[in-house]
Amino acid sequence: MSECIFCKIINNEIPSRTVYEDDEVIAFLDITQVTPGHTLVLPKKHVADIFDYDKKLAEIVFSRIPKIARAIKQSDSTITGMNIINNNGLVAYQSVFHSHFHLIPRYTKHDDFKITFSDNSTSYTDDELDRLVTSIKEKMEV
Ligand code: AMP
Ligand code: ZN
Repeated sequence: MSECIFCKIINNEIPSRTVYEDDEVIAFLDITQVTPGHTLVLPKKHVADIFDYDKKLAEIVFSRIPKIARAIKQSDSTITGMNIINNNGLVAYQSVFHSHFHLIPRYTKHDDFKITFSDNSTSYTDDELDRLVTSIKEKMEV
């Protein structure tokens, strides 16, 4: 039996508030409800994080996200936007190591969702940025 909490939900060993399910993907409410309707979308196949996706699994999961996002948005006329977040690795705040995407509906700028991006654009030279581009492109799978 799997020790993974999301596999247990998929196998109906523990309950969830499921909003969508097909043979390959499930979506259920996150217990924390950062904002009302906060939903997790995940593959039924156990993969730890985004680095473990192959093309087929990516197509399967990503193709479901827009329609689940639309259903959440259309469920409440006060939802005006949505943040979609996918944490990978402890350092990136992943806490459940069965890959999942957070769909977090946004109501106002003052709802309970918080995220900040620092602007570090002046911290890097053109050469440093060019080297970053080169090293990433070198590793790109064909
Ligand atoms: P992350 O930190 O990105 O790995 O997100 C894991 C999420 O799973 C957290 O937001 C938790 O609230 C959520 N979570 C953990 N256990 C459950 C559960 N049994 N049902 C629904 N959501 C859960
Ligand atoms: Zn799992």
